[in-house]
Amino acid sequence: ADKKESEPTDTIVITSECELRFEVESDEVSLVLVDGQAEIFGTEIPLNKVYKFVAGLSIAVFSWRGCRLKITGNCNSRYISKQTPMVVYLQTHGALQQMRNNAERDDKDGPRILVVGPQDVGKSTLCRLLCNYAVRMKQQPVYVDLDVGQGCIGIPGSIGALVLERQADVEEGFTEQLPIVYHFGYYFPDANWALYNELAKKIADDIEKRSEFCPKARHSGFVVNTCGYVTGDGYKFIKEAVDIFKINCILVIDHERVFNDLQRDIPEDKATSILLPKSGGVIKRNGPCRKRTRESRVKQYFYGFRRPLNPFVFNIGFDEIEIYKIGSLEVSDSLLPINKVSDIKNKLSCVKIDIDNDLIHTVLSLVFGEPPDLLCSTVAGFIVVKDVDMENRQINVLAPAPHPLPHNVCLWSDTKFNDEGSIS
Ligand code: ADP
Repeated sequence: ADKKESEPTDTIVITSECELRFEVESDEVSLVLVDGQAEIFGTEIPLNKVYKFVAGLSIAVFSWRGCRLKITGNCNSRYISKQTPMVVYLQTHGALQQMRNNAERDDKDGPRILVVGPQDVGKSTLCRLLCNYAVRMKQQPVYVDLDVGQGCIGIPGSIGALVLERQADVEEGFTEQLPIVYHFGYYFPDANWALYNELAKKIADDIEKRSEFCPKARHSGFVVNTCGYVTGDGYKFIKEAVDIFKINCILVIDHERVFNDLQRDIPEDKATSILLPKSGGVIKRNGPCRKRTRESRVKQYFYGFRRPLNPFVFNIGFDEIEIYKIGSLEVSDSLLPINKVSDIKNKLSCVKIDIDNDLIHTVLSLVFGEPPDLLCSTVAGFIVVKDVDMENRQINVLAPAPHPLPHNVCLWSDTKFNDEGSIS
């Protein structure tokens, strides 16, 4: 018999303003809305459409007016919560929408939102919700994801921006074509704050240019998601990001001290800070769980999600590719008696690296720029070094398109991937 048939199907009733939460244990969990109204992280779900969720995901189905669902498969800790911050989140959306309406009326900038808070408080989820609600109001917000570890644009180690014209796909997230992607190369911003800052400036510049010729974009505004760094350099970056993006609204999730510090440091007429509660449904992800999410994002890039992609494997000569690394991070700061200026210069320098066996499994970003001006050049795509043949001076690569590579300049990253889908 079909395996699915042997799994129990439960009918679940969610009353108004309540939320069904579950974690997908193994295999898949499928879900169908049979009656009423429901949404998943701000995306409305239609009646009778079957959604399938893969193992490891943590999902919340919220209903404003009540609904009935059918759910099949094994869930971890499935429960209905009556305590959600959704009303506060909706009010926040209402205030942001008011800013957009005023922006349209007076032809000025709409909400420029920065979402901050520690790790695992639901920052990405709130961004997704607010973007979805904006799209549902016929807005075209830009979503900027600065989360280099768990972000949803590009692959781990990159950051970028997306112009949103439709709600996020419930299973896949935002699927807009043509994101702007920049190479960072690490999962943590503190690997190179100087570069991180430059990239933020570049994205802000891209948005500014687009706003100049597209009034709709200017009025719709944007939502910037950040990494969960809220102390020390992380807090310093938050303050810098407010200037870089000309933020006018800071949403702080679940961190009173950061909220208070921001109220002290950022004048109210520049940006309003709002403290929002965290949802009780947000799960804490441990190291292995974060690693799994990163692995699946790289795998998805090469092998596709719902529609399978067939990546290509081919050899290229050492002479057909140039690999650069940004910042000479092997040299510990403490070993160098250098001043701040040369330190930053060092962190932003592009150094050509030699090809050797250390590159095996390394993900490389193909970039449009020309050396030495490679910092902040847009990423054209990613390839993985599968093998290095030192004798014949060839490398074997996994690529989304066939030979030859569209560009021969690429940037080294700390991201590793092998065909079995394992990243280190
Ligand atoms: P952050 O961006 O702050 O690190 P996320 O928004 O990525 O946090 O949320 C962490 C995890 O919690 C994600 O897997 C997300 O799907 C899950 N999650 C968020 N909100 C809920 C909720 N209300 N119910 C169940 N799971 C949730």
